[in-house]
Amino acid sequence: MQHLIGVDIGGTNIKLALVDKKAHLTGRRTFSTTSFKGKHALIDGIVSQIDDLISGQGLKKKDIIGVGIGAPGIIDIRTGTVHSLTNIPDWREVPLGNILKKRLSISVFVDNDVNVMALGEVYFGAGHGAVNMLCITLGTGVGGGLILDGRLYRGSSYAAGEFGHVPINIDGPKCKCGSWACVEAYAGNSYIVKDVIRQIKAGQKTLITELVEGDLSKITPEVISEAERKGDKFAKKVWADVGNKIGVGLAGVVNLLNVEKIVIGGGVAEAGKSLFDSIKKTIHARAMKLPAKTVKVVKAKLGYDAGLIGAATLVLYELERENAPKK
Ligand SMILES: [Zn+2]
Repeated sequence: MQHLIGVDIGGTNIKLALVDKKAHLTGRRTFSTTSFKGKHALIDGIVSQIDDLISGQGLKKKDIIGVGIGAPGIIDIRTGTVHSLTNIPDWREVPLGNILKKRLSISVFVDNDVNVMALGEVYFGAGHGAVNMLCITLGTGVGGGLILDGRLYRGSSYAAGEFGHVPINIDGPKCKCGSWACVEAYAGNSYIVKDVIRQIKAGQKTLITELVEGDLSKITPEVISEAERKGDKFAKKVWADVGNKIGVGLAGVVNLLNVEKIVIGGGVAEAGKSLFDSIKKTIHARAMKLPAKTVKVVKAKLGYDAGLIGAATLVLYELERENAPKK
């Protein structure tokens, strides 16, 4: 039993791979979430992909330590229940973990995608060895996973770590969670892009307009970053503003939890220096001196494979806990 299987369930794609105990990936495969019509087809698809993955590598089920799954949203880890999946309308409260355990006869663990990413970064990435850490992902949404006292902190109803929905203002833009002025409502991809378009329409001159040849609907965070790399002052200011807002939220986290590390991953984290500099500057300006001095803000290391490695790491983490002497 030397192999783990990682499964990364996203709205668009589902990725699977065989992962060894040192986080090396083999037999990676990706299939589109929408290629399966409905929840039953999707579950059947995952089962047959896992079977294929095992036999395709010349292995048997007994060679597999366990299957780890990262999925979006709040996950009830006792049953591995995934509440909903974008693009699969009939997916409601599906106890995916229990179902797969029965059908595969292998141990299966399911948790939130950013929670497993946090574990992956602690075991194999930028958070290596951290005891108190927040991992955040910046993209369409803003996610978070918390490690406290060396454990994944899941909260009282498995909903902890949602950094994206920490409010940072009294009034502000509406957020998809139902509240307003959350970090995500300022730093999620669509908000950033919408605000840039608004400013360009109001007369702002920027290289971004040239890069999309005047078609503002083509603006993405990547284009804004490209403009920044080419020295565009406005693009620089956009990332500095986003960084300032994220930094305000993080200053609260730093004061509340005194974490030693904040690991930042996801698409927007690939933005240039201005974003990171601004986040760090704001934390130092807004958090209390001692915890601000303690915390290190670093880029996530696992990149594109973070979800897969994280999912496999969940198996290692859970089995370590099961085997640890009970206090
Ligand atoms: Zn929110």
